[in-house]
Amino acid sequence: MKGPSLSHEHSYEHELQVLNPATEEVVATVPASTAADVDAAVSRAAAAQTRWSALPPADRARLLRRFAVAVDEHLEELAQLEVREAGHTVGNARWEAGNVRDLLDYAAGGVERLTGRQIPVAGGLDVTILEPLGVVGVIAPWNFPLPIAAWGTAPALAAGNAVLLKPAETTPLTALRLAELALAAGLPEGLFQVLPGHGPVTGTALVEHPGVAKIVFTGSTAVGKQVLAKGSALLKRVTLELGGKSPNIVFADADLKAAVDPFSFLDNSGQDCCARTRILVQEQVYDEVSALLADALAAVVVGDPADEKTQMGPLISRRQLDRVRGYVPADAPALRGSAPEGPGFWFPPTVLTGERPDSAAAREEIFGPVAVLLPFRDEQDAIRLANETPYGLSGSIWTRDVGRALRVSQGVRAGNLSVNSHSSVRYWTPFGGFKQSGLGRELGPDALTAFTETKNVFISTEGPAQ
Ligand code: NAD
Repeated sequence: MKGPSLSHEHSYEHELQVLNPATEEVVATVPASTAADVDAAVSRAAAAQTRWSALPPADRARLLRRFAVAVDEHLEELAQLEVREAGHTVGNARWEAGNVRDLLDYAAGGVERLTGRQIPVAGGLDVTILEPLGVVGVIAPWNFPLPIAAWGTAPALAAGNAVLLKPAETTPLTALRLAELALAAGLPEGLFQVLPGHGPVTGTALVEHPGVAKIVFTGSTAVGKQVLAKGSALLKRVTLELGGKSPNIVFADADLKAAVDPFSFLDNSGQDCCARTRILVQEQVYDEVSALLADALAAVVVGDPADEKTQMGPLISRRQLDRVRGYVPADAPALRGSAPEGPGFWFPPTVLTGERPDSAAAREEIFGPVAVLLPFRDEQDAIRLANETPYGLSGSIWTRDVGRALRVSQGVRAGNLSVNSHSSVRYWTPFGGFKQSGLGRELGPDALTAFTETKNVFISTEGPAQ
């Protein structure tokens, strides 16, 4: 099997330097995988996958449960690593490590339930068989390194595939630790490998490799489009989880205090694809909402993510900090909280109040602790504004009127909505984007099926000719 070319690789560093975003200190240095490394990993994975898919389903399920137990036993260690390399608050990081454990458990429960169908036909029996795809490439972003790695990996393994995981450049450490835990739990060598590296080198090598049957990509819409275009040359299966600019639609009759919970866009310092960064408020309660938000922002505790009391940590990198600053000029009309000075990539909680709906800050994904506050007149106006973006990932609708909640849910073009809640992603419900927020769905009851091909087999019941 011939892998992709090695062109342009020389211009990338051979090592990835992992920085603590709260201090800018070097946490670790990790070798970057080359296209040749990817090629070798694909061969090992293909061999492991053949053996893995031949194991009895109960044995595969048991091994995945052992992997879940190993994650649980190392939950604190994984969480602390996430704090150091990604700057997540320690409470969030514990939840994220627990999410990996739960995803593995949930997927393990699917191994013995991955059933095909029997379809009525004349002259025989017709059955569908859900076969594993083979080797699956999972390309993950830095914003939720642990959960997003597991969203693709757990169901892909459960459906009988091998997985090659490429973590983001800035956050490879938890992924590498997960691979060690998988081996220790008894998963076969080569079945789940982690390939840290540069996107254009390691990521591209996975996307272009003929031995990788599917790519699960989570990241920016711009790179997602490249992945889709390159993968199409081999008709590769591709799932894309991309950016968002999600609305929080607040009607005048809502529980306003709950509706404008600032963590609907500040969680993970706003580096969340589902962050409700467009706060759309019915005009008669605009001033009341604005006052509630001002108080709430002032109360947010921003600081050392390892401190149990901290509610919001730093941004991931200098690059991200510069990007966020670019959307928020110092003199922009805004409600602002505070953030530490000095080393670390800090930005205060901010709500921009002087934006037009078509401004860059109101339309583009900023991926920082910044939201825009925009007024709307009525239901139709709210739906129009909510849809006025190329994205369609998630959103919240706040009203005590059930009929209106349903009408607005039907009107908003997005994959994941919550009514009277800013509910986050659940691993047992489907997740994915409309429009330029993605392609395909992950998680939920059909998660394993997305890592299979359906084979139809007709078995004739005709006897030998007499
Ligand atoms: P990114 O697109 O820069 O990188 C994502 C991953 O792709 C990284 O591992 C990166 O190394 C790799 N990559 C980069 N260039 C590549 C290439 N040419 N070929 C193959 N792989 C390549 O995104 P990011 O900045 O790491 O993550 C932030 C983005 O992720 C935001 O837009 C956010 O909304 C999105 N996101 C989406 C979801 C979702 O489920 N919809 C979840 C989390 C994050």
